[in-house]
Amino acid sequence: MSDSSASLQRKVKCPQCGKETVFAPDNKFRPFCSERCRLIDLGDWASEAYKIPTRENASVQDPEAYQRGEEEDT
Ligand SMILES: [Zn+2]
Repeated sequence: MSDSSASLQRKVKCPQCGKETVFAPDNKFRPFCSERCRLIDLGDWASEAYKIPTRENASVQDPEAYQRGEEEDT
């Protein structure tokens, strides 16, 4: 183990851009490297792309289409 002061600073990779950033209470954008990355991430989650529940779509449409397809076949 090294006793360098760097060990005191926990560094994480920004989930948005992958840049190393210090994970500390001092960094109000953590775990992001900057306000921009944080806003981008929030924007992504607020966007319709994340709002549309693809999981629900699959579970509802898949069995239905499968059963319907079978019945129509016979
Ligand atoms: Zn970033």
